[in-house]
Amino acid sequence: MIKEICNHKNINRTLKDALGNTVSIATLISGTLKGNQRVSIKVSASNRKHKIFADADSMGNIRGYISDELLNVSIDNVDDLSIEELIGHTGCIQVLKDLGMHSIFTGITDMPNGNIVDDFSYYFKQSEQTDSFFSINMVYNDNNEIVLCRGIMAQLLPGAPTNLIDAIKETIFENHSILSNLGDNESLKEIPYLLFEDIEIVEQYPVQFFCGCSKEAFYPMLYSLSKEELVDAFENKKSMEIVCNVCGKKHSFSSQDIKKFIQ
Ligand SMILES: [Zn+2]
Repeated sequence: MIKEICNHKNINRTLKDALGNTVSIATLISGTLKGNQRVSIKVSASNRKHKIFADADSMGNIRGYISDELLNVSIDNVDDLSIEELIGHTGCIQVLKDLGMHSIFTGITDMPNGNIVDDFSYYFKQSEQTDSFFSINMVYNDNNEIVLCRGIMAQLLPGAPTNLIDAIKETIFENHSILSNLGDNESLKEIPYLLFEDIEIVEQYPVQFFCGCSKEAFYPMLYSLSKEELVDAFENKKSMEIVCNVCGKKHSFSSQDIKKFIQ
């Protein structure tokens, strides 16, 4: 899923890391949601127009995207930046949890680490008073495409000793190679047992990329064109195409669609 979200975009590795980390964290949080609960994450760099978004629901429907302003600078100015330089010293994380029944929880924190992943551990400690640890492992091929992504989110249950989170962190750090090891799906199921002795898998479910965009949702964008442009397209039987920058899907408007719009 992370490959699908990150690889289709013409973005460099730093942006893939940033998007992949943000979407992975939203995906892991989706495992804590129930019923029709949803979570939306916004990571804003010091340059507030440079943003990364991710949404997830309890069914494992996930999407993620980068703001146009950040996408547009990617080719020339982001190439040599690390993720910390991209975020800068005054980045911030905003999380909106729609808990259903008109109950919405919002949290906002700064980003002392500037690498997104550790900043989310900080977010949960500050905003939800929960000791948490995240680890996202992405492996790239020679063409700078993501070939593997594995994530872990650890949170302590109430009453658990706080040093337990450090023990988990250390175990994952020491066994980093297991998480980055390419392997078949069968070995994926064994990974938790390779990392921890005394564990039990209580639930498994798939996650999938889901944008939810539709041609209808893009009709309002035709308002940004002048009437002359629309009439010209209709009279010359030209169709127009609008590309969703979340999923890359092309929505085509025929001259007949445009005629209806003009009328
Ligand atoms: Zn879309």
